[in-house]
Amino acid sequence: MERQDMVKHDEQLVVLSKAAQSASQRSEWTCADAMRAAGFRHLSRNDMWVDSEGHMVMPHTAWKVLPETSAARIKHEAAKQAEMDAWDTVELHEKGYSGWNRFYLVLNNNGHIHRSMSCSTCYPTTTYSFLTGLSGTDDATVVADQGEILCSVCFPDAPVAWTMGESKASIAAKAERAAAKVAREAAKAAKAERNLVTYDDGPVPDTGDRWCDLSKLTDARSYLDSAVCYGGDRFPHKDRVARALAVKLGTTPEKLIAKYEKKYR
Ligand SMILES: [Zn+2]
Repeated sequence: MERQDMVKHDEQLVVLSKAAQSASQRSEWTCADAMRAAGFRHLSRNDMWVDSEGHMVMPHTAWKVLPETSAARIKHEAAKQAEMDAWDTVELHEKGYSGWNRFYLVLNNNGHIHRSMSCSTCYPTTTYSFLTGLSGTDDATVVADQGEILCSVCFPDAPVAWTMGESKASIAAKAERAAAKVAREAAKAAKAERNLVTYDDGPVPDTGDRWCDLSKLTDARSYLDSAVCYGGDRFPHKDRVARALAVKLGTTPEKLIAKYEKKYR
């Protein structure tokens, strides 16, 4: 059997299993509907069914009470049949499995790769991704593809280093986060640079007002605005600010001041 046929078989198995799982789910729902149609109540706090007098009744027993013509019973029986058929289809499909290697990745942080979904190191609640694209390959191929994250119980003969690494996906995700952080910081620095006023003729003028930082574009602008409005005496740094702002904005101090004067004329 060619490897691509193994992959195809396993991909189809995933499709059929999913269909069977949803058929089971539908069967459960129609069963609950039938139980309610039979007059039973479900107590969710202890997942129990009770009759009208509060006595416990076994689940899946609505058929004992409902007539054969009951719509809820008919619906549930059809869903039950569909469920059995769907699982029969899975079983039939699996007759074509001749025992090639299969690999399952546990879906959580630092999840390992297992040979089956019944590994003793996992829990009933563990969720797996069936790596069907790797079906029929060998352990070295899996490590090259996914990283050194083999389960040491499922792969007792694998070199220890193959069980102690980090997944390629996790390394890629980390690199992506790091790159995004660098980009964010660069954008922040560029923004700060755009808002920064530099004074080539000495240190940044000190206004004595902690709310007015003349190295900032907005503050320098409002300082010059006020200086023009109220007169230079109260704003001793007017000329230096005008010069620095003019450099920043690609104009001349005179034009800049004229612009503000126009505003207050
Ligand atoms: Zn395992």
